[in-house]
Amino acid sequence: MTSSTSPPAIVFTDWDGTVTLQDSNDYLTDNIGFGLAKRSEINDQILIGTQSFRDGFREMLESISTPFPECIDLLLKNVQLDPGFKEFYHWCEAKHIPVIVISSGMKPIIYALLKNLVGEEAIKNIDIISNDVKIDEVSKKWEIVYKDPESPFGHDKANSIKEYLTNHGYNSSNTPLLFYSGDGVSDLSAAKETDLLFAKHGKDLIKYCIRENIPYTEFNSFADILSKITKIIEADGKNIKEFIENK
Ligand SMILES: [Mg+2]
Repeated sequence: MTSSTSPPAIVFTDWDGTVTLQDSNDYLTDNIGFGLAKRSEINDQILIGTQSFRDGFREMLESISTPFPECIDLLLKNVQLDPGFKEFYHWCEAKHIPVIVISSGMKPIIYALLKNLVGEEAIKNIDIISNDVKIDEVSKKWEIVYKDPESPFGHDKANSIKEYLTNHGYNSSNTPLLFYSGDGVSDLSAAKETDLLFAKHGKDLIKYCIRENIPYTEFNSFADILSKITKIIEADGKNIKEFIENK
């Protein structure tokens, strides 16, 4: 790939609670699994490091016995899109800026929501790198299939970003500005791979960034991300430091 065909930026983004307002897996666990109290307990263990995200997340999903297609129906009725995402996505499309979803969620859920909330063409334009699901044909039981089962995150998001860049011909001399947006613990490793991390206001990722001293800028919706990325691209990335909130 030559620099003349390189986009001005690449945007990697978490899906649950970032592109969508509700986290699908939390929604299922709270409403048809073991509920919010038990999920919060596990979440705290993940937060202090006594339980891996991978194992805690699996435990939450194992508390759901509803067949997978019914879970998808429930989510289609209850999960909403970030109010600024559609405009952001169309702006990226016009600028030839790739948008790649890097998710700990399960592929069929993300596809169904993306198609329902953004539109059919979004499926073709937005790459999804995520975990998957295995459904037993007879018992209809389902379980999460981790992309990186050996990683304590189940999906090593940092590795997925590196793989994407290598597979698309990017190297140290032709890589454009890289951004990542997220809201949770599994987004932490991804942050280190990009030039700027957008962390959602009021969510866990900010606590981690402060604790681990990882630079971040806040967002409330993708309208904020669009506004900040526009300014950064205009300045060729030279003003990135101005946006960092934990200097
Ligand atoms: Mg999330």
